[in-house]
Amino acid sequence: MADLLTPAEVGVIRALIELARVTFRAFDDSEEFEGDDGRCHSISSQDFDDVEKAIDVLDELPDDKPGYAPAPYGKAQWALRRLLISADLPSEPLVRYCPGCGSVGVVESKYRDCCPDGGEARMIPQPLAEKCQDTFQIAIGNLGATQAEIAGLEAANLHLSAMIDELRELLQDAKRTMTELHQAAIPDESTEGVPAIIPPEAFRKFVDAHAMLCFCMHQRGHNPPKDGPQRG
Ligand SMILES: [Zn+2]
Repeated sequence: MADLLTPAEVGVIRALIELARVTFRAFDDSEEFEGDDGRCHSISSQDFDDVEKAIDVLDELPDDKPGYAPAPYGKAQWALRRLLISADLPSEPLVRYCPGCGSVGVVESKYRDCCPDGGEARMIPQPLAEKCQDTFQIAIGNLGATQAEIAGLEAANLHLSAMIDELRELLQDAKRTMTELHQAAIPDESTEGVPAIIPPEAFRKFVDAHAMLCFCMHQRGHNPPKDGPQRG
């Protein structure tokens, strides 16, 4: 309940309690005597000052009620208007609202609650319950959208990982065939300008592996740079 009160409202309630306290003490300490017009009471100057001080606190409350110049108690009443107005509306129908699942109204089954922690449910004014339910559904909707987005990102991430693995494997193949091609090369000094003879099988494997890598990269939108070094 305390979090339903504003700090200003709590301050006014404390000031009213303080006024009640010092008034009680002044009355308790007062002395009755017979005056010219009948029964009178005298209180000590200290008690009088304490009551006056408590009233001054109320008199310092905001004086912003349009068209009024309220007395201290009127200012307190005005400062607590939000609470007094809601307290004055007992005719508003109350319904059961469960903050756990947003359900409004009675739970049909006698032996089952709307949710395991349905004990959180409260009886609140119907319009407020409906507003709470709307807010709950918006929040759930947002949560659903966020979860769908997360699922989408996870799927994309998985796809990307698989693609990277595939490309890495193809790259390994290409490197391996290049090594094999170098190892298979036969030095040839018989013809000028041709340093080595490449066996056709090694050359075919090398070209296949590189073609596969290039095709895969192209297909995935990773086109090799066009201005890169050209091989003759
Ligand atoms: Zn519930």
